[in-house]
Amino acid sequence: MSFEFLDKFRDPELCRKILDKMRSELDGELRFMEVCGTHTVAIFQSGLRSLLPDEVVHLSGPGCPVCVTHESEVNAFLDLAGRDRVIMATFGDLMRVPGHGGRNLKKAQADGARVKVVYSPFDTLKLAKENPDDLVVFIGVGFETTAPTIAGTMKMARQQGIDNLRVLCFHKTVPTALDALMGDEQTRIDGFILPGHVSAIIGLEPYKFIAEKYGKSAIVTGFEPLDILQSLLQMVQWRNAGEAYVTNNYTRIVSDAGNSKALEVMYEVFEPTDALWRGIGMIPGSGLEIRPEWEQFDAKKEFGIEIKEGPALPGCKCGEILKGIKRPDQCPLFKKACTPANPVGPCMVSTEGSCAAYYKYNLD
Ligand code: SF4
Repeated sequence: MSFEFLDKFRDPELCRKILDKMRSELDGELRFMEVCGTHTVAIFQSGLRSLLPDEVVHLSGPGCPVCVTHESEVNAFLDLAGRDRVIMATFGDLMRVPGHGGRNLKKAQADGARVKVVYSPFDTLKLAKENPDDLVVFIGVGFETTAPTIAGTMKMARQQGIDNLRVLCFHKTVPTALDALMGDEQTRIDGFILPGHVSAIIGLEPYKFIAEKYGKSAIVTGFEPLDILQSLLQMVQWRNAGEAYVTNNYTRIVSDAGNSKALEVMYEVFEPTDALWRGIGMIPGSGLEIRPEWEQFDAKKEFGIEIKEGPALPGCKCGEILKGIKRPDQCPLFKKACTPANPVGPCMVSTEGSCAAYYKYNLD
């Protein structure tokens, strides 16, 4: 995709026209939630947040994979790091995510734990081959976007006879979390900007309940300013007309049917399970676990790990921020005890986290 092509989605004049139209048609407050860390960053980076009318309220939802990883899951992988014959493999964004007692993987590494940052789950195959006397444990976090690649890695490991790779599976699925949010009396959401990457895998069908059950609109949206503004204007117009739809505005990337091959691989290896989400708690059927046929790769089985609800990080409001109940600047620790250099919670660690975006773009 050329930059020239992308420029069309950044046309300032067209953006101004859509904003003017939105202002003229707005009839009361519209609280919209985006559910993708990339949208969080795109909205701040493009300056849209400061251009939107005051009545259009932007809420960041549970779309940052690192941020929604539950405290108990973080503590579980931190407990595993440093064990004899264990090499932890992880994407870099988990390295500084804090567990209880100020622990994180970076500190564990400094204390001697064997922790390797990988750029793709497939890198773990090489790591496992190079260390035949050790167990390589990959920390699987994230949504439907990453789960198929990890399932593919496990399939390749089996084909290649690699028996020292394990996956600590904390994957989560997006639509079930949106259902839980909509059913929560504390949240007030008028519409969703749906994630581009997750939707490229799952398609449109799993979101249909948002209009059918809750009478709210939800739009799969690209990451350029015009993509986002167009979807917001549609939400305003549908709400004015008393209508609600689930639709796909990101057709240059996302097919309504999703990616059937990726889904097939994902569900060959994983099956739905209940999962704990930071701030939201247990959501039935919102996680993925390794199927019994693939349990040779299951780190939870290998190490007898059970994930149970535990105390939240003291003082951190990430949970309420992920539900759209609080903004980062309403956390007493924001910009004081908690900064990107010294993060207290995951929303300040991840570049896709709301607190980090608020900090970087100087919003308070
Ligand atoms: Fe948590 Fe820091 Fe965000 Fe407060 S500012 S909610 S402590 S990450």
